[in-house]
Amino acid sequence: MKHRPVARPKLAVSVTGLQHAWLGAMGVDVPWIKVQAEAKAAMVQDRAGPQAEPSGLAPGVPLRPATPMVREAQPPSAAAPRPDLGGLCLDELAEQVRHCQQCALCATRRHAVAGQGVSHPQILVVGEAPGEQEDVEGQPFVGRSGQLLDNMLRSIGHDRGQTVYITNVVKCRPPANRNPKDEEIAACRAFLDRQLELLRPRVVLAMGRFAAHTLLNTDVSLQNLRQRPLELTVSGQPVPVVVTYHPAYLLRRPVDKRLAWDDLKRVASLL
Ligand code: SF4
Repeated sequence: MKHRPVARPKLAVSVTGLQHAWLGAMGVDVPWIKVQAEAKAAMVQDRAGPQAEPSGLAPGVPLRPATPMVREAQPPSAAAPRPDLGGLCLDELAEQVRHCQQCALCATRRHAVAGQGVSHPQILVVGEAPGEQEDVEGQPFVGRSGQLLDNMLRSIGHDRGQTVYITNVVKCRPPANRNPKDEEIAACRAFLDRQLELLRPRVVLAMGRFAAHTLLNTDVSLQNLRQRPLELTVSGQPVPVVVTYHPAYLLRRPVDKRLAWDDLKRVASLL
C-alpha cells in the first residue's frame, strides 16, 4: 500500500440550516459561513430529513497553499507477525480480531473492537485504539468521543449506520489508555490493511496522529498533514486521505473544532 500526493481539490462550502444545527451540536460556532444565500434551499433540504445529502458544495474558497510532506511508504516492521488475511470477508476478519493474540494487548482487553459500520462506506474513519468504554461495549467510538464523532459526520450529511465504517489502528485497548506501542501497531496493521481492501471507501478520514502516521507511514506532525492532498493506493486504486484531530482531543481543546470543521469540508468535497 502506497501513498502519494494528489491534486488538491477546489473547496468551498455553504451549510444548510440542518447542517448548521449539527455543527452547533458538535460545538462549532460558524458565524463566518454564508447561510443567507442558501436559506431557501436549506429550508427545502431540512424538510427532507436528517439523512439528506449536504448541498452547496461548490468551488470558490481556496485552501491555504500546501506542499505534500509525507515520505515514501515504508513496509511495516519485519518483526511484526503478519497473519494471512487475504481470503477473509469482513465478518471473518472481525472473528479473527476477536480471537487474536498477536500482541500483548490481548491479555488485558475485555473485547477486541474490529469496527462498525456499512460494508461499502463512503467514509472510513480510522482512530487510534479502543478506550475504556469501547473495551466494555465492543464497539468503536462510544461515549462522549463517539457522540462528537457522530455530530461531526452528521454535519457533512453522513451517519455511521448508513455511509460510514469506523475502526481503529489498534483493535484492543492499551491499559490505562496509554499510547499504543510501535510493536502493537505493527502487529495489528494487517487487519487495517485488509479492512481497507474489503471496504474500498471513497475517502479515509484519519483521526489523530496515530491513525495518520500508521496509514501514511510518516512521522510528519498532524498539524502539517492537515489540509494536505494525501492518497493511499488500495488494491491498485487511489483513495484520498484526510487527516484531522481525534474527537477525544477536540473534547479537551474545543477551540480546535473550527479546524476540524475545515477538515470535514475537505472530506465532503472529495465525495
Ligand atoms: Fe491482535 Fe491487534 Fe488486539 Fe494486538 S491489538 S491482540 S494484534 S487484534
